[in-house]
Amino acid sequence: MRITTVVMALALMTLLAACPRPETAATNPDDRVHAARIEADPAPLGEPEGGCMGEPIERTDAEWREILTPQQYHVLRQKGTERAFTGAYHATKEPGVYVCAACEQELFPSETKFDSGTGWPSFTAPIASENVETQLDRSHGMVRTEVVCSRCGSHLGHVFNDGPGPTGLRFCINSVSLRHVSPEDQKSGS
Ligand code: FE
Repeated sequence: MRITTVVMALALMTLLAACPRPETAATNPDDRVHAARIEADPAPLGEPEGGCMGEPIERTDAEWREILTPQQYHVLRQKGTERAFTGAYHATKEPGVYVCAACEQELFPSETKFDSGTGWPSFTAPIASENVETQLDRSHGMVRTEVVCSRCGSHLGHVFNDGPGPTGLRFCINSVSLRHVSPEDQKSGS
């Protein structure tokens, strides 16, 4: 009797082992959409965890180093500052929107850009208050208000209270932290 039980148990185990496991990735629609999105994404690391637009992005330091240029990494991830009048956008007036160079979150509309004469792109307001965050910065013997991207935490620049109307604010942002997207590119989704 005991032998029969053992044989039956072994047979059951063999049967279970032979059964294919259910393909959860293929049957869950959300997983299929996510897999398709990663396949279509040419970025070397694919889409980050929880990577829909607007959701927080967390990457390791090694991943940021791989994705960003050395100058982008220095400014965005090490709170560096590009030299005045050297950035791509300090004197531009093209319409469109400026997105985060690290995560593509929309940050500043061109309508709020003004010529501050400082040599850095300057804006009176972000595209939405929740798209940027501020924090106290006591580095370099100064007390300033740092501006970071709310989606990926990357350093963008600083905000000061000496801007023009209507806000009276001057968001002093590094060009290298931004990417300009023209209205045509906005329409085509690139
Ligand atoms: Fe960002």
